[in-house]
Amino acid sequence: MEWLKNIEVYDVGLNIIRPTLRFPVDPGYADQVADSLIEGYKFLSKQEIYEDRMERKVKTFIEGIVYPYDRAGCGNQIVVSSSGKVGVCAGFTGTKKYFMTDVFDRSFDHRTDQTFLLWSKKSPLAMKECFDCPAIGICGGGCPHNAELNKKIG
Ligand code: SF4
Repeated sequence: MEWLKNIEVYDVGLNIIRPTLRFPVDPGYADQVADSLIEGYKFLSKQEIYEDRMERKVKTFIEGIVYPYDRAGCGNQIVVSSSGKVGVCAGFTGTKKYFMTDVFDRSFDHRTDQTFLLWSKKSPLAMKECFDCPAIGICGGGCPHNAELNKKIG
């Protein structure tokens, strides 16, 4: 944090480790990294440095608006692979799962594409398991790619 302050950046994004079944992390990692992100946010905001991961949630909370998605892949992005395949999530670029067409498909329309629509609903607001959670308005649901890899859901 001190280093970030000293190099005088204005924006920064702190990416946490995304564990997989093959590369697990310590069971206490999630709590530790959450505490660290909060402490980092407190420090950086005092220096007027915008930390994206925390700031976008704090901002929506302060503004009193709902935060439906954590990930752009949930209806806000189209990913193009180096071979021209078109999908919704960069995390699946290797397997091409959820890559529904390619750049030469002139008939593709994300507004009617079933894969795109499926991913557009990957929000706590559309999941009955989340309906009673007090965090539903600010959670965003995390990373669907990570959820599918680790829990076999999606
Ligand atoms: S914290 Fe868990 S249960 Fe609550 S809204 Fe987020 S994903 Fe759903």
